[in-house]
Amino acid sequence: MIPVEHRFDAIYEESIRSYGPAAYLASLIKQHSARLQGLRALQHCYMTSISNEYTTVKQIPDYKTALDKFALHLRDEAERYVLTTHVNSDGDAIGSQLALYHVLRRNGKQVLMINPSPVPENMMFLRDADRIRVVDESRDAAEIRGADRIVVLDVNSPRRLPGLEPHIINSSAHKVVIDHHLDPTDFADDYLVNTDAVATSEILCDLFARMNVSLEEPEAAALYTAIMTDSGNFRFPRVDAALHRRIADLIEAGASPFEMYEQVYNQGSLERTRLLGRALAGIELYHAGRVGVMRVTAAMNGDNYPDGSMTEGFVNEILALRGVVIGALITERDGEIKLSIRSKGRRPINELAAMFDGGGHMNAAGGHVIGGAIDDVAADFVERSAAYVHERAASV
Ligand code: 5GP
Ligand code: MN
Repeated sequence: MIPVEHRFDAIYEESIRSYGPAAYLASLIKQHSARLQGLRALQHCYMTSISNEYTTVKQIPDYKTALDKFALHLRDEAERYVLTTHVNSDGDAIGSQLALYHVLRRNGKQVLMINPSPVPENMMFLRDADRIRVVDESRDAAEIRGADRIVVLDVNSPRRLPGLEPHIINSSAHKVVIDHHLDPTDFADDYLVNTDAVATSEILCDLFARMNVSLEEPEAAALYTAIMTDSGNFRFPRVDAALHRRIADLIEAGASPFEMYEQVYNQGSLERTRLLGRALAGIELYHAGRVGVMRVTAAMNGDNYPDGSMTEGFVNEILALRGVVIGALITERDGEIKLSIRSKGRRPINELAAMFDGGGHMNAAGGHVIGGAIDDVAADFVERSAAYVHERAASV
């Protein structure tokens, strides 16, 4: 019997000589060979490996020019729209999608909202959130391929659109991206990207203003919720007076700050609070107290894998500790370990997340490891985080 490691080596060497996806699959298997947890992990590796590799858009189009272009687009003859957003959607993803949905519908468009994963429970209060479907390829492939325009919101790579990715790539629709993440990838026809925006919904506010849309309550509530959640309740460094003026417009159009906060943050379960208690008790600090790690395992959650809604916001508790500049919430999921990383200052932890097959923003990013053991992933993270403890010099 050939030792497992050697067999993987052989596959790896062989596949390096072939092209992209196969080599990638083999490298994933090699990387995780010691830790593969059953068929689910293998299947996930395979699904990842058949995805395309994407290059980064070389030159992001000028924002003002793109706003002008998009304002015209949304008023052109395109009739059938598909709107989508990233897997494990959050407030900005859903809020952006619904806000655009309401405005397009009022302009007489046919709009389908098709996502890779369900709407989080605490976003279901938003008007028409129940119209957002989880992709069913046998039902939706034709709709995606037959759309006039596909709008991809709050996503910088089609790899974050499992189940939709191949249909979007192969669709002849006009594909557009509206996003605020760093490093958008090259797969769409047009990009409306502002990496300085605190939320994708802030970009939509600019776009609607450019289109002279008179905001109504449903989209005002959706946009408010999106900006509230993606700005950490209006406190991230990029929050400024101009953003607060936008928020004032949304409140005037009918968004209720009290109602939005109640719906999003004050619907927690006792189980969640107890889980938070256990997670808080286990926080550990490294690198002279600069890096904090919180772990959440199935064992801590009554032997159930905690989903994103259970642990939403936990990571912020790490950064509440004096001296901590990088925090990671590391969660055990079914078949993978998810990392949720935050930093303060010029510490581009999106680069750190990229080492865990992820990405994001300078101060908020995430990634995952297929089939790893949580303690190994945590140790790996701690080691790699050392290079990000010191703040980067401001670019000139
Ligand atoms: P969270 O930690 O809240 O899950 O994600 C924070 C940010 O990190 C998200 O807004 C997204 O930009 C990014 N992110 C999280 N998980 C992933 C991932 O698996 N892949 C990529 N590319 N980005 C991620
Ligand atoms: Mn966002």
